[in-house]
Amino acid sequence: MHAPALPDRSVAAYAGVVESDRIERLRSRADALGDARILHVNSTATGGGVAELLRSIVPLCTDLGVETEWLVLDADDEFFEVTKAMHNGLQGDDAALTDAMQATYRAVTERNAAELDGEYDLVVLHDPQPLGMLDRLRERLPDAPIVWRCHIDLTEPSPDHLGFVAEYASRVDHAIVSRSDYAGVVDVPTSVVYPSIDPLSEKNRALDEATIAAEHDRLYPLSFDAPVVAQVSRFDPWKDQFGTLAAFRRAREEVPDLQLALAGGMAGDDPEGLAVYEQVARDALGDPDIHVLTDLPDTTINALQRGADVVVQKSLREGFGLVVSEALWKRTPVVGSTVGGIPLQIEDGKTGYLVAPDDAQAAGARIVDLLGDDERRARFGTNARERVRERFLLPRQLTELFDIFLDVLESDR
Ligand code: UDP
Repeated sequence: MHAPALPDRSVAAYAGVVESDRIERLRSRADALGDARILHVNSTATGGGVAELLRSIVPLCTDLGVETEWLVLDADDEFFEVTKAMHNGLQGDDAALTDAMQATYRAVTERNAAELDGEYDLVVLHDPQPLGMLDRLRERLPDAPIVWRCHIDLTEPSPDHLGFVAEYASRVDHAIVSRSDYAGVVDVPTSVVYPSIDPLSEKNRALDEATIAAEHDRLYPLSFDAPVVAQVSRFDPWKDQFGTLAAFRRAREEVPDLQLALAGGMAGDDPEGLAVYEQVARDALGDPDIHVLTDLPDTTINALQRGADVVVQKSLREGFGLVVSEALWKRTPVVGSTVGGIPLQIEDGKTGYLVAPDDAQAAGARIVDLLGDDERRARFGTNARERVRERFLLPRQLTELFDIFLDVLESDR
């Protein structure tokens, strides 16, 4: 396993963004953890929401005096093919999980666990990828409770995949999921914690006018002088870029100068990315108003989410969907589907609109509604900013995680 490089975070800097009593509560929970040493393990340092979360959580814990490390599995493409199939299976796909795939999974996770040499008092395993470390971790760290933090949409898991994952997950000390309907799929004490965005990260921080202008220039020939609809997502079948394309085409019938930006990265643990990107790029080929953008730096994503008139997130499954809060925080209304974590974030008719996941026409009509009404977009934007400030910022999430860690450590004693 390897430790990713991390930015600095200072808890004092959050005082300008959230109320001071929230910061005090966070500090008090951090103090209560004392000298507990916490390890987070996941499967990629870049791309996707889990890496995004850990990149902020871990340095903020360090600043709060909670000894925290983040290690990423060392694995090859064969392993990631297996774990993406597991991810898809947990989200309802019935892809095969053969004996050979299970053997690959066990071999890689056990090898990574065998390499672990630090001392820890609590271990958090993120998503299914590192769960196979469980037995070796128990041997190495018999006193450390193990928490499974599942970020996936567990609305309708395939029985085969759930059965395989539950063989491990039903033996952890505690599970954390992103939405109450996901609780109960594994039979261990489970908490619900909404993920959060970091208002001070490069992706979400305030940008001055000069920076925004420079970033918008970088996105040329996309023009912010004409209406822009944007989606920021890994290229992944669940993110339904094709539904967004259909919604855009429907909206363009009424707003002829409309442009679409589909920005997507390739997460290190997601082997499907390239194929989906190629299909999307082929679909958009020859249309000068559709911009398929890959691997944009965080400042550019920030300026795109800020400069778009409407953001779309028409996922077919979505554990939480940090991108929704990222856009809402920047006062951009979001048209999203009624799946997973999206309805937790969008208040229909107040901060954006919700549509059925298979209804691209309705999404297109909502885009048109928003584009035709500047006052409504501004009002939704103001509501959206406050909603995210209230519910979806990092200090709130970290306080809840610390509370769970304290409980788990306490009940283990
Ligand atoms: N993201 C990015 N560049 C891209 C695509 C995605 O930086 O081209 C980021 C996005 O801003 C968000 C994260 O990746 O912070 C995606 O998290 P989300 O929870 O929305 O979805 P996930 O990828 O975890 O399913």
